[in-house]
Amino acid sequence: FEPWNDPNQRPYIAFENITKKFGDFVAVKDLTLHIFQREFFALLGGSGCGKSTLLRMLAGFENPTEGQILLDGENMSGVPPYKRPVNMMFQSYALFPHMSVEKNIAFGLKQDGMAKSEIDDRVNNMLKLVKLDQFGKRKPHQLSGGQRQRVALARSIAKRPKVLLLDEPLGALDKKLREETQFELMDLQQDLGLTFVVVTHDQEEAMTMADRIAVMDVGRIIQIGTPAEIYEAPKSEFVASFIGDINIFRGEVTAVKGGVVDIETPDGMVIRSETPHAHATGEKASFAIRPEKLRVSRTRPEGGINAASGEVWDIGYLGDMTVFHIKLKSGDVVKASLLNAVRTVEDPFSYDEEIWVSFAPDSGVVLSN
Ligand code: ATP
Repeated sequence: FEPWNDPNQRPYIAFENITKKFGDFVAVKDLTLHIFQREFFALLGGSGCGKSTLLRMLAGFENPTEGQILLDGENMSGVPPYKRPVNMMFQSYALFPHMSVEKNIAFGLKQDGMAKSEIDDRVNNMLKLVKLDQFGKRKPHQLSGGQRQRVALARSIAKRPKVLLLDEPLGALDKKLREETQFELMDLQQDLGLTFVVVTHDQEEAMTMADRIAVMDVGRIIQIGTPAEIYEAPKSEFVASFIGDINIFRGEVTAVKGGVVDIETPDGMVIRSETPHAHATGEKASFAIRPEKLRVSRTRPEGGINAASGEVWDIGYLGDMTVFHIKLKSGDVVKASLLNAVRTVEDPFSYDEEIWVSFAPDSGVVLSN
């Protein structure tokens, strides 16, 4: 399932050169984005980057200042929200407090004039789907936060929209429940065969659930790709540091040879890395490497490149892994994480101990800034 790699696939949702201004303020800038049918797509970015505005334009609550939005090939301009095959689930759940769970779910169907027997069937179906069969008669205040969230979800899919838009859907849940619900949402999306577009500022949430992620900043898409592409091959420092933890070494290119560059840092460390991009001697470059790709050893690695010594500054034991902060001779602090299940050293590193960090030439990425 990778329709985005198939040039013959027509996008299901197409934002074409969308600009959105609020007065003089430009919230979205000439943005083009294609989302495919049955995709679980995440818009990820910090506060104010324009992700909710994009979602609201798709729902029809806002109109683009310039550009077009197409849904299943049809131009949506001038089509009111209730006529779009799209439904939005809001962060605040917005359930009717005085209505039972059943009535909350039935509300939209009733408004559409659906026959009572059909509504009852549909509501029962939805309750089963979100595993709340026993809770139909309760009022929202008699439910837990996670259960309320599932009622909101049931209500937003009861009308069988083709596209479900979710704005920070799990924001109000605690960490454990949020993680569980992420997998429930994924199962649901698969079972129903719907297209989901979720807005989130939580990178773990986007990584877990989405087929593809668009990382946004100030009204633009900075990078788009599968979670693995974004994590393993970030194109810029912004993306690298927005998603997960990263160590960045800055320096100057001192040699370029057949897809391999040498970058020298101001304190004389030489980094040799593979790179698919063209670089020239003398240019500034940075090298980014994830904490789990750094090797940590007591003895000096052979070869002398891709290695630096320092001392153990902080140790964080997280159960599945241990995170070390290592203060290098240069004064920079790098993060290394070691999986506890595969720790190779007999005795764990201790505070202030002198150690070496090193890495393989293909274990990080050279970034253009
Ligand atoms: P958050 O995660 O904080 O919700 P966001 O990425 O969803 O952020 P948007 O809600 O899309 O951000 O807003 C993008 C920018 O547009 C913000 O700077 C916001 O202040 C501005 N904006 C949004 N709606 C309006 C409006 N109706 N009038 C004026 N400015 C607006």
